Order: sequence, then C-alpha cells, then structure tokens
Amino acid sequence: MKDPFVKIALLQEKVGDKVRCLTCERRCLLTEGASGWCRTRTNIDGQLVTLLYGNVSSLSANPIEKKPLYHFQPGTVALTAGSWSCNFGCPWCQNWDISKSPPRKGRYVSAEEIVTMTLNTDCQGTSISLNEPTLSLEWSLDVFRLARERGLYNTYVTNGYMTQQALDLLIGAGLDAMNVDLKGGADAVKKHCQGVDVEKVWRNCRHAKDKGIHLEITTLVIPGVNHDDESLQGIARRIRDELGDETPWHITGYCPAYRFHAPPTPLSALERGWRIGKREGLDFVYLGNVLGHRLENTYCPHCAELLIDRYGLTVVKNSLQDSRCPVCRRAIPIVA
Ligand SMILES: [Zn+2]
Repeated sequence: MKDPFVKIALLQEKVGDKVRCLTCERRCLLTEGASGWCRTRTNIDGQLVTLLYGNVSSLSANPIEKKPLYHFQPGTVALTAGSWSCNFGCPWCQNWDISKSPPRKGRYVSAEEIVTMTLNTDCQGTSISLNEPTLSLEWSLDVFRLARERGLYNTYVTNGYMTQQALDLLIGAGLDAMNVDLKGGADAVKKHCQGVDVEKVWRNCRHAKDKGIHLEITTLVIPGVNHDDESLQGIARRIRDELGDETPWHITGYCPAYRFHAPPTPLSALERGWRIGKREGLDFVYLGNVLGHRLENTYCPHCAELLIDRYGLTVVKNSLQDSRCPVCRRAIPIVA
C-alpha cells in the first residue's frame, strides 16, 4: 500500500543530477537517495518527496495564549498539531522528544479531517506547532485553505527559517498569525542552532509584517547563551526598529532539556529582560512560564491600566472596549 505520508515536495529544483530543497533556508542539495538536514525530505528517483504529509505526532486543543499569542483572538482555542523533526539543532530544545526524532509513523490526519475536528471541538482555529511546522509545508497549505474557507483562523509557531517562497505560499493559503522564536545574535544562533543565519529569520518577520500577518516574537532566555543584557538589548532594538514598537515580545524561561544542562533561567533574568524591552521602547513585553506573575498581563502603555488579566493560559478578565483602553482610549493592537 502506498505510504500516505509521502508526497512530492512543492518547492524543489533540479541541479544537475541532484535536487535542491527550497522549503527552508538550509537549501539542502540532495544526491539520489539522500535526505536533507531535517531528514523529512528525500531525493527519490531525482525527485524530492516529503515524509511528513498528514503525519501527526500530537494533536490537542489548547488556548491561543499557549503559543504564545497574546494579541490575537485572546481567549480562543486552537486545535494544535505537530509532526516530527526540526531544521535547527538547538541543544536545549524543550520539545526534543518529537523535534530530535527522524520522521516516525504518526497518525494520518487529512486536511479535511483536521478542519472537521477543529469545528467539532469548538476550536476557533488551527495551529501547527510543537516541532518546526515549516517541515509540514505541503500539509499546512491544504489545512489552511480549507480552514479559512470554513471561517477558522490559522497560526504557526515557528523558528522562521522557511524560504520566502514558502512563506508566501503560507500567506496565500490563509496564514493569519505567527509566533517566531528569536534566539539571539548572529554568532550565538549560528553556533548553537548549527549553521543557521539569523538574518533570514528577521527577513521573514519583516516580510510577514509587511503582508499584514499578525506577528509576535518569543525569546527563550538561556543562561550562557543569550541571557546577558547585550544580547537581549540587541533583540529588543531590532524588534522596535524593524517590526515596530507595538510588536509583542515574550521572554520565557528555559528548563534543562536534551543536551543542555545549565540551571533553569532565574526569574530575575526574565525580569531584567522585561526592563530592557521596556527601556528600548517596546510597548508590550511579557514573561512566560512564570505562573501568576503580573507581567503575564497586558497593561495600557499610555496610562498603565490593566487591560487583560491573565493567569497562566487563562484570560481572567478582558477590559478592552473596541480594542481601546477603557480609561485613556489609547488604541491597543489586539486582533479580536
Ligand atoms: Zn490607557
């Protein structure tokens, strides 16, 4: 029987007797029978195929706040699907059980099925995340088209390393919002994520923003990698200058995982990151993975009124009125 997970890859080009994958910026060049860096795409008879189509490792309904997306449809629930593997090599991966695994045989879920499930479980949209969703490009496009037709939203939680061609396809198919992980400066990212050019991630963030995609940024603060003031300041400044001072920035704590054993990020480092973000002029900086902390909340950047009171992933109270602060009427960029 034909393997349902195997499908011809959408973005590829022939280079002599080899084939180049154009899904992500690694742009792997594959000889016959070889797999790319991420191991999810293989050259079979001179043609690139994906091994991940509809190959689902995990499926669950969870709050959009979990992505994290705090300024997009707050209080709604997204049916969230993950697959296998990654195109980055970060040694601290918090989802390493699926991201460091070559493609296994998950549960086959068609685009039609996942959209039906989303509607039947009272979710308002889809989220492809957990491992790197770019590797599931072909399936994402089918899911997004159908979901949008049925009035659902579509989100990606990504390292942002897709080619611009892949990003344009996702936008065309119905991508609404993205959370992009920005891990640090050029040298740190190149070294720890194994040869990654972080400029490509910034380019994609700028491009998504230009195309009207809702964008939030996450930085996992890792001791010894990016926890110093200079690294965090560098990220905060670039968010402000290249993506705008209203772009939400989530500063989250790391826990020892996979091959990285530094102690967990102290709360004081996260709070210092928050102060750096505010000092650099970002309007919305949040702490993540610190349950019950006041900096999980949204405050008005003009008058400091509490606008969205959160506890973990729960919206306790949303006081916005027509996307404005009820006290000073400042417009708050939250997609409702
Ligand atoms: Zn206000």
